[in-house]
Amino acid sequence: MTFQLTIGGRESPCVETFAVIDPATGREFAQCPLATVEHLDHAVAAARAAFPAWSALPIDQRAALLNSFAEALAAECDDLAALLSREQGKPVRSAVGEIQGSIYWIRTTAGFRPPVERIDQPDGGRIEIHRRPLGVVGSITPWNFPVMIAIWHVIPALLAGNTVVLKPSPNTPLATLRMVEIANRHLPAGVWNVVTGDVEIGSGIARHPDINKVVFTGSTPTGRAIMRDGAGNLKRLTLELGGNDAAIVLPDADVDTIAPQIFAHAFGNSGQICAAIKRVYIHDSLHDALAERLATLAAAAKVGPGDDPDTQYGPVQNRRQYDYVRALAEDARKQGGRFLAGGEPLAGDGYFFPLSVVVDVTDGNRIVDEEQFGPVLPIIRYSDVEDVLARANAGENGLGGSVWSADVGRAAALAQRLECGTAWVNHHAKISPDIPFGGAKQSGIGVEFGLHGLDEYLQLQTVRLPAGA
Ligand code: NAD
Repeated sequence: MTFQLTIGGRESPCVETFAVIDPATGREFAQCPLATVEHLDHAVAAARAAFPAWSALPIDQRAALLNSFAEALAAECDDLAALLSREQGKPVRSAVGEIQGSIYWIRTTAGFRPPVERIDQPDGGRIEIHRRPLGVVGSITPWNFPVMIAIWHVIPALLAGNTVVLKPSPNTPLATLRMVEIANRHLPAGVWNVVTGDVEIGSGIARHPDINKVVFTGSTPTGRAIMRDGAGNLKRLTLELGGNDAAIVLPDADVDTIAPQIFAHAFGNSGQICAAIKRVYIHDSLHDALAERLATLAAAAKVGPGDDPDTQYGPVQNRRQYDYVRALAEDARKQGGRFLAGGEPLAGDGYFFPLSVVVDVTDGNRIVDEEQFGPVLPIIRYSDVEDVLARANAGENGLGGSVWSADVGRAAALAQRLECGTAWVNHHAKISPDIPFGGAKQSGIGVEFGLHGLDEYLQLQTVRLPAGA
């Protein structure tokens, strides 16, 4: 298997490479080309050179090219999914789902058209509010959904008329490199470039004077670093950062109905989802019954390598995250937490941790206060609704939250008091390409998806016209 950087529509050779680890074995399975700062400069120059022609193309033509890329991605779905599964760890069928979801996202996003607003003036003049592309967009992606998140960043940026330099996470660069090769068969040279590397190249993107905007998905500390580094030329920023989403279960909820849903939205992608349920607050009256149900579901889940057709949940994606999840589980036990399922790493070389449910923990314990981003779910008992709301709203994160109840009106009133970018009732983490999604507080700045998301790649330009124009 060989991989390439694509810069200016062509392969850009690299002297150095780095190892990509299979999380199911903990061993290297491929070498990836490593970009230098010079590669980054070339990529930005190529994107800058491609910008005038790309931004001048009518939006319908840009959309048509993006749709032909979506078709090509569909044709290569199986090969790409096998590669994605290998480097990320998720089951092949989940990797297929990620690519199919990406294709759906491209097609839906390609249908958006930024409006031109017109305001008539009393003197007969007119104001038009246009939306203009920004120039070169730098995209920096994480390792949990490498293909999908790249699509979330890049497609609206390109549709809006910008050109792009993308940097995937060094943990999961390969499917992204392949995808950019495929895209470049359909897009003009220089419109979508890709470089690799970690902090040096990421902060190089954030600092680069010829990049106008950075879109980043990843941890909150890295988001802060990007904000600092981007200040030099007042970069526009969209930051999708960490979350520690609470689910609040009210006393009238139906345990049988909600248990499988809470389970699915806590453990999807082995808990490595920004807006997964990361802590469940259960009313006293339901606590034991619901905790038992969640534990039964967790214990029955099949955790294994992504290429085993029986696997439902893959390993934690990388060693650092695996060690972190283990440390949080150990700390929970030390604080008096009781594991109803899991709690100890699985034997073997890979980064396997079973789906785990821990009770008798509370706010102030690390497993509740910190974002685990892995398959360990803390369950917290509560008795007073106002108190639980305050606990759900404590902390710096504010990505999502949910309320679960048979009384939808009561749940909706409570959900609206959650300090988060998206609040769900009897659901969690449901997202769509046409609905804005973003973080409150320190979970981010700006939104993705829909026309609000597209606006993040556009600059408003007000044009004042005299009467008769
Ligand atoms: P991370 O912040 O360590 O890395 C993300 C990306 O940033 C990587 O490509 C990395 O190379 C790059 N990077 C690292 N340091 C940088 C710097 N100083 N300047 C520029 N780029 C730099 O995050 P991660 O470990 O890959 O992802 C896990 C975290 O991401 C979790 O906290 C999770 O909640 C969050 N996340 C959020 C969302 C969301 O939509 N809000 C989605 C997925 C993941």
